[in-house]
Amino acid sequence: MRLQSFGAACTVTGSMHLLTLDGGRRILIDCGLFQGSGALEARNHEPYPFDPADLDAVILTHAHLDHVGRLPLLVNRGYRGPVYCTPPTAALAETVLLDSARLQLEGYRQHLRHARRQAREDEVLPPLYDEEDVHRALDLLRPVLEFGQASTVAGLRVTPYRAGHILGSAYLLLEDAGGRLIMSGDLGHRAGGLQLDFTPPPQADAVVLETTYANQRHRAWPETLVEFRDVLCGAVRAGGKILVPSFAIERSQTLLHTLKALMDSGEVPRIPVFLDSPMAARATRAYFQFGDELVPEVRDALRSGEDPFAPSTLHEVLTGDESQRLNRYDGPAIILAGNGMMTGGRIQHHLRHHLWKPGTRVVIVSYQSPLSLGGQLVAGAQTVEVMGEEVAVRAQIQTIGGFSAHADHDDLLAFLETAGCPHVWLVHGEVPVMQAFLPELAARGLKGDIVPDRQDVDLLGSGFSGGRPPGLGLEPGPEGVKVAADE
Ligand SMILES: [Zn+2]
Repeated sequence: MRLQSFGAACTVTGSMHLLTLDGGRRILIDCGLFQGSGALEARNHEPYPFDPADLDAVILTHAHLDHVGRLPLLVNRGYRGPVYCTPPTAALAETVLLDSARLQLEGYRQHLRHARRQAREDEVLPPLYDEEDVHRALDLLRPVLEFGQASTVAGLRVTPYRAGHILGSAYLLLEDAGGRLIMSGDLGHRAGGLQLDFTPPPQADAVVLETTYANQRHRAWPETLVEFRDVLCGAVRAGGKILVPSFAIERSQTLLHTLKALMDSGEVPRIPVFLDSPMAARATRAYFQFGDELVPEVRDALRSGEDPFAPSTLHEVLTGDESQRLNRYDGPAIILAGNGMMTGGRIQHHLRHHLWKPGTRVVIVSYQSPLSLGGQLVAGAQTVEVMGEEVAVRAQIQTIGGFSAHADHDDLLAFLETAGCPHVWLVHGEVPVMQAFLPELAARGLKGDIVPDRQDVDLLGSGFSGGRPPGLGLEPGPEGVKVAADE
């Protein structure tokens, strides 16, 4: 099996891995969007170095935008074959891709307006795809992959296993006469959140491993809950708004469920909770539909007809007008709104309206890229620009790190220990993080290599080793900023 990675190689987003098998069969694993800096996002527009019409199949590991977001573009460029995934991934992908098409159109119109004033409209890149393209891509989805059950895809035996990262997320065991390979997709953090832990992997000859947080240990779940409770109680006493920037998939549902539990147990006062994210509300439907996939506490609540994602004070804010009217709402309230890094979305107008008030609390529950608005707030900026306006930061900014949906250092090593494979190929991480992880692999007798960007590697053959393939510039560039697109 040979691999060429056209995304998430030496960086975190844009997952797209081309697997070439004997006889020239070609399978694409994930087809995600680059996100973060302008340099990275420009890569979304690059032509592919292969003809999409020549692919035999596409397999999606999960529905995060950085794993599925270029699928409509692949279809635009000629792909007409099947796209295999689990049923929950298909349900979430529809929400994610339609939202992506809408955001791209909005972003394009906004850039065009600004560029026209400078007579530079030629420089504005058009949207990658529109809603119609999304529907053509959705028509190709084959939601037939079930955890633990083998399927044959283009002659390759494919078995998906629970990855525990978000609803429907899978890692893949791929087998042919040449050997057994695991593609990790994104793995979840064990013991916490809505997802069951990842299934211990079967034995394999090699694994292609995500390394987003290979250098970190997340705070334990019980401690995270205590921290969240204390922050909320302090914020309620302050009497202002509690703004929680949140991603629509998994994070919003986890927060809603946690808020409900803390309010039902009396640990947090029952103040109004506004979910100001129609996308999160739509995504939550998939959690109802596939409730059997979730941790027993949530699964059982769903079976008994309860809504585990609805604190008794929940209000879903659907229209933009309703969202704006929240600015006139008096008294303490929790507002969950996207996007999670505050680079766009409804959270921005809430920030503009409330950041300058000392009673406001901004509770940050996911990674913030240093260059993003959220990153500036975390760094202690005194003033920030929000929606073109300079706003003083008098609000308290409080960060809670334990809600991550990604495996940490210990989770990744536990995964590898069970897989027992001698060769580990690292992807989906920043270069310094992967380089720091290599000696840990070596100490455990494992051969580790960083998958080079766009270069062909023999996964099950001897490959290269020592972490740094010859002649490759693996220093982190300006685009080497981790983003929390799929926290
Ligand atoms: Zn993910």
